[in-house]
Amino acid sequence: MQYYPQYCMAAVATTLILIAMCFLKQNYATKQNRVFNLMVIDSLIASGINIASLYTISFTDRYPLWFDYLVNMLYLVAFNAMVVLFLAYVDSIAKLPRYKIAVKVVCTVVLAVESLMICTTHITHLIFYFDEDLKYTHGSHMKLLYIIAAALVILGDVMFMYSSKRFSGYQVFSVNCFIVLIFASVLFQTMNPAYVITNLACALMLIFVYSAFENPAYYLYKDTRCFNRRAFLATIKKQRKKKEPYLVIAIRIMNYDFMRHDLGQSRTETLISRVAEYLNECYRRKVYNLSDDCFVLVLDRDADIKEQKTRLHMLFSEPFEIGERENSVKLPVGIMLSVIPVDDPEIDEKEMETVVHAIQRDEKEEASAEDIIDVVKKLHRQELLATIIDNAIENNGFDVYYQPILDVSTGTYPSAEALIRLKDKELGFISPEEFIPIAEKNGRVIEIGDMVFSRVCDFIHRSRGMDLGVEYIEVNLSPVQCYHEELARKFLAELSRHDLDPSSVNLEITETAELETRKIKILQKNLDNMNERGVTFSIDDFGSGFAAIDYLLRLPVSIVKIDKSILWQAMKDESAMKVLKGTMRMLKEIGKHIVVEGVENEEMAEILRENGCDYMQGYLYSKPVPESVYVEFLKKYNKTEAA
Ligand code: C2E
Ligand code: MG
Ligand code: MG
Repeated sequence: MQYYPQYCMAAVATTLILIAMCFLKQNYATKQNRVFNLMVIDSLIASGINIASLYTISFTDRYPLWFDYLVNMLYLVAFNAMVVLFLAYVDSIAKLPRYKIAVKVVCTVVLAVESLMICTTHITHLIFYFDEDLKYTHGSHMKLLYIIAAALVILGDVMFMYSSKRFSGYQVFSVNCFIVLIFASVLFQTMNPAYVITNLACALMLIFVYSAFENPAYYLYKDTRCFNRRAFLATIKKQRKKKEPYLVIAIRIMNYDFMRHDLGQSRTETLISRVAEYLNECYRRKVYNLSDDCFVLVLDRDADIKEQKTRLHMLFSEPFEIGERENSVKLPVGIMLSVIPVDDPEIDEKEMETVVHAIQRDEKEEASAEDIIDVVKKLHRQELLATIIDNAIENNGFDVYYQPILDVSTGTYPSAEALIRLKDKELGFISPEEFIPIAEKNGRVIEIGDMVFSRVCDFIHRSRGMDLGVEYIEVNLSPVQCYHEELARKFLAELSRHDLDPSSVNLEITETAELETRKIKILQKNLDNMNERGVTFSIDDFGSGFAAIDYLLRLPVSIVKIDKSILWQAMKDESAMKVLKGTMRMLKEIGKHIVVEGVENEEMAEILRENGCDYMQGYLYSKPVPESVYVEFLKKYNKTEAA
């Protein structure tokens, strides 16, 4: 029979193009990536040998018989290996750990059994043989190879579809297309044996799969062409698996925000790309971008730290040139280097990422083993606290305490600050200063804030009947709550649900370094909406934050709470006392009421009274106490003193 080898030749050409693409766009090496490369090489081998095989079966008598057998055996092994590799590839992308071992066993057994059957066919004639007329003839078990191949492909598809939620529509389409096309091409070839198109179908589909799954952009950082955070995490995971110590060098671009502000976004991006180019040249395939301004190198542990530092400082000692020839400018780039030797590769990728950020944040030039342990411990505590917070939210595990606030002019306690409390069976009392920032990071502070607000409303509602002299309760608001679009609507609805006048609550806001105009706008809108309805606001921890004056002028606040640290410092230091008194004078002049927190003794109270403080809060009067104790406190002080 006359066979047409042109299709195999086209398959070879297509696969060579694919190899060039893989080579030029060097991808980050993963298991998935390695299996894909094996598939491509196998496809090239199978198509190449198939050309020779077609010649041997067309002109059997031209070659020695052993050669005819050998070529056809090699082709069948290579072609069947393709199906096994397909299953291994699906396994590596589907990531179903439960079936990992089973897939390995199936792949190995199938490959071994099939290869054995194919390589002994010259004796057994089970798969193929050359008859007396030297005609290539299928053996009785050739069909078995087809059945096994079909079964493996279907199994691969089932595994893939099982985890298909993780993939994009294009990815799901490409795998299913691969399968349909392979089946269709095998069917076509069975009916038209002269047209050997299966190899070409495989090669084309590999290009399809490459574009869907092997996109190098997945592991590259925007346009710097360095590996990204995903690649960094994968590298640390590999080091851990290999149990090999390594060295991490974090490079932070100094004053990145100012740079963006001064140079503009696009020039900064060009400059950072130049930096990346230089780093990539010096440290090929070892540079990772964790964020716009943070590069990380992962080197062998035996790299000389001093030498690396000098090398990097040298690299950044010269300004970087950006722009076209006549319009080019040279710009200096300042860096902060942190060297992190990792001798205990047990550290996992998430821990390592936290270590890099913490060491950079603390501006440490070299991290010791203790520093690393410290960061990891903190991370674990934070993770534990996050679980405790989740449980407390589910099981109503928070308490709300009240700390009475003295009205200096009347000597009564018309208000109190609501303070959240969390107790864990094992860890004991957990300070809100520790757990609120964690809840802010994972977003759960919104639910916590809603719960505190609801409990406070409920308390005020009940206290009204008891005639305890409570005019309003102060509730702390996290900045995360302030930037939440729904805040005003939710809080106003809660107040009316409890039939309360909005002036029954005063919300405490803290200053943050938030620069995003969109968020500031939401905050302003939330505050204005609530203020129009009668809710009042105070600035908490005044003097300890960032944008105090700005907040004071722009937001509808009637009360300012001076931070306890300012008072405590003033008691020790004359200049700090002048600052405290000056601040109080200034606040009075612009018509704000003043609360000072942290009043612990009479001496403090006396000074504050003399300087026009309106309200005082502190252990001198009461610690934060549970609701029942607070009610007793009010009965004792508000009624008798008011009388
Ligand atoms: P804050 O709002 O500035 O609350 C005042 C803190 O100072 C409270 O600490 C209070 O117990 C403490 N304090 C008051 N007077 C004295 C004193 O005389 N001596 C000493 N040593 N401490 C005094 P606490 O309850 O540990 O709360 C810490 C911070 O946690 C609060 O600071 C607030 O920022 C946050 N927080 C507490 N409850 C909530 C809440 O429900 N929501 C939000 N978002 N944050 C809360
Ligand atoms: Mg407060
Ligand atoms: Mg405060």
